Amino acid sequence: MKKLFLNFFYLTLIAVLLSGCAGEEKSPKFVFLFIGDGMGLGQQQLTESYLGAYDSEYPMPELNFTGLPQKGFITTYSSSHKITDSAAAGTALSSGQKTSNGRIMKNSEATAGFTSVAAAAKSMGMQAGVISSVSLDHATPAVFYANADSRNAYYEISMQLPESGFDFFGGGGFRNPEGLQVNQKYSENYTRQDTRGVDAGDRKNMLLYAKEKGYTVITTADEFHALKKGMDKVIAINPQLQSGAAMPYAIDRPDGELALADFVRKGIELMENDNGFFMMVEGGKIDWACHANDAATTVHEVIDFDQAVKEAIDFYLLHPDETLIIVTGDHETGGLAMGNTVTYSQDVFRVLSHQKASLEVVENYMESLDHPDFSLVMEALGKFYGLGTDIPLNGFDSLRIRYALHSSAGIPVRQNKIPDEFLDYGGYDPVAITATRIMSEKAGVAWTSWSHTSIPLPVHSIGMGSERFGGFYDNTDIPKRIMELIGYTAINK
Ligand SMILES: [Zn+2]
Repeated sequence: MKKLFLNFFYLTLIAVLLSGCAGEEKSPKFVFLFIGDGMGLGQQQLTESYLGAYDSEYPMPELNFTGLPQKGFITTYSSSHKITDSAAAGTALSSGQKTSNGRIMKNSEATAGFTSVAAAAKSMGMQAGVISSVSLDHATPAVFYANADSRNAYYEISMQLPESGFDFFGGGGFRNPEGLQVNQKYSENYTRQDTRGVDAGDRKNMLLYAKEKGYTVITTADEFHALKKGMDKVIAINPQLQSGAAMPYAIDRPDGELALADFVRKGIELMENDNGFFMMVEGGKIDWACHANDAATTVHEVIDFDQAVKEAIDFYLLHPDETLIIVTGDHETGGLAMGNTVTYSQDVFRVLSHQKASLEVVENYMESLDHPDFSLVMEALGKFYGLGTDIPLNGFDSLRIRYALHSSAGIPVRQNKIPDEFLDYGGYDPVAITATRIMSEKAGVAWTSWSHTSIPLPVHSIGMGSERFGGFYDNTDIPKRIMELIGYTAINK
């Protein structure tokens, strides 16, 4: 999982040499925009600490993308909130325009739609691809091909995908391809995101519609590997999906199953052409893991996202004077900080290595237990987290687990609406979330929220035009600068 083929100094050297030979600015032919949903500096630094970046006298980046030479910072606020959501932040990153939380590529009043940087690239003759580890109708992928009043209009969003004519979609599936009437309120609790709806009426199945529009839809690993260069209009859905039609968390993925990096490699293979391409890749479950304050799962998601970036870096090394790679986030999630009042300044982040499954898997396990008692629960927490086995528990820890067990007994967990229970458990399974929080505590990790924060985010970049992405600016500047670089002039106003 570790080793870099590249390091910061090597990449810097390449960048310096290239900028030295570049006279006037040329357009990048191949543009990658990587968005770590919910990923701020905390998520990056925790992951690097876990990987050992700070173990030597001179800290070295342990992630490929943090080693990219050009550094910037962006603000992320939306027009309705200081703290954005992925819809407004995605709209900013795709169109260069601010909007209200919840909107997909429409203005705050929902009276006008915006053009995405992917559609702009497509109109310039480039190919366009959208890849996400969560469902392809979720807010971040959606902002590159759809316009909608609400991010929750999953069916209406997905029906715009075949209209885009984009060349490659890959990763998760779709939340509501049948167009069922959804009678459930969507929440930020991403561990149980199944759409429960009734009656599609005469609405057309979105996947059938995509096929009518000339798309090839594949859902198996064999079909995935059989996709060959030159095929366009492909929707590649990961064979395994967890809750919310998302790809499984990296921590839960058995060896040999497809990862986000496989979708990036396949996207490059299918889309490489003389006119170039624009590819957006989202690591969507960094956000979900951080909503759940699940530190170990977050670390594995960031590593997985980094492996996806590495595919683009390998491509960059073959086409260094034609490729631009930008890696950023849409907002930070969880208020993740390294250091808490339980562990003070102890270096204990590797405690997280004892965790073997995401909160989602642990919740499902807890729900499968019929009237679990304390000893059964402790057996499970030993198995999934190493709690009480590899990691000693104190009396207060045990008390909290007992209290959580009491809270979950007889109460349907999803309907925990009592305010102080929400503070304690965030709407998650009380036992599972308590164990996850104890893990964070013991690993020296702190969280301030079950939701997003407003802290500015780093932007890492390399390649043709990357000098435009240094400094401190706004998230809306990213697509504006990409559009300028590829020569697209009808920029959103
Ligand atoms: Zn979120």
